[in-house]
Amino acid sequence: MTAKIIDGKMAAQELRDKVKEEVAALEKKLGRKLGLAVVLVGENPASEVYVRNKTRASEEVGIEPRDYKRDASIREAELLELIAQLNADDAVDGILVQLPLPDHIDSTRVLNAIEPEKDVDGFHPVNVGHLATGLQAIAPATPSGCVILAKKERGSLAGLEAVIVGRSNIVGKPLVQLLLLEDVTVTVAHSKTSDLPGVCRRADLLFVAIGRPEFVKKDWIKPGATVIDVGINRVEAAGGKSKIVGDVDFDGAMQVAGAVTPVPGGVGPMTIGCLLSNTLYAAAMRAGIKPAVL
Ligand code: NDP
Repeated sequence: MTAKIIDGKMAAQELRDKVKEEVAALEKKLGRKLGLAVVLVGENPASEVYVRNKTRASEEVGIEPRDYKRDASIREAELLELIAQLNADDAVDGILVQLPLPDHIDSTRVLNAIEPEKDVDGFHPVNVGHLATGLQAIAPATPSGCVILAKKERGSLAGLEAVIVGRSNIVGKPLVQLLLLEDVTVTVAHSKTSDLPGVCRRADLLFVAIGRPEFVKKDWIKPGATVIDVGINRVEAAGGKSKIVGDVDFDGAMQVAGAVTPVPGGVGPMTIGCLLSNTLYAAAMRAGIKPAVL
């Protein structure tokens, strides 16, 4: 059996097209452009690439990106002051602070200073709590992207058995809440789980977010399962070069699963699409307009 490859690039393009349409409609109602503030501290090359991609994707859907680049030596108080200004700025609909921040800055304090209604990353405890209690919330982008891909593949997810490997605050935990909203039966596995292969084999939907290259093997996968690989790992490749692989042994998974997300080109592109969708949602909510369902 050869599994289907789930095309995250195409799904992300479809999502961005929808966001673009809705952004144009909301812009008309509000009489102004939507704005996304992206705060980057220091000179981490990976962060610079992420920020550039987010800026480019914002422009593509008609959201005005506003980049705030600050030196790594910035004091925490100055960064908090910047966040306060952005919170108060009516033309800013979403604020995101690119992580990691330098060691002398308390990341939690900075993220928690973002006004929850502008927290397009969905990391603020108010949004986390709202999501967990079924209230209107901005949900983190990566798990939202995972659910969109799973639904594209399986249609309704109700009654399916999901296993999530990884329990981080940005992927595993919010994914639990999003899947419960879809009436999925959810198991969360982590580094202390006993018989991880056996647990994974129960999954109709297997989500893996651990940061271990090609860790999940083909005999851990239930035949026909949908495998959503969140991992992004840079490994050595032939000729002294490097390449990006996921947390799942892709070639092995392709022999057993029903459908698999590739890395790159699976969950990654969806994350930025969902971030833009969150910015649209945040702008609509703040203006008291019912947000479009995308
Ligand atoms: P974290 O390091 O925050 O969490 C990793 C989780 O994996 C932990 O819960 C940990 O368990 C679990 N884990 C680690 N090793 C094992 C193991 N051997 N067996 C079972 N569980 C294990 O990672 P993130 O959630 O931030 O990221 C995970 C991966 O997803 C990374 O590769 C990251 O780059 C990628 N990522 C991709 C994104 C995208 O847009 N595609 C966005 C965000 C992340 P425990 O809690 O017990 O320590």
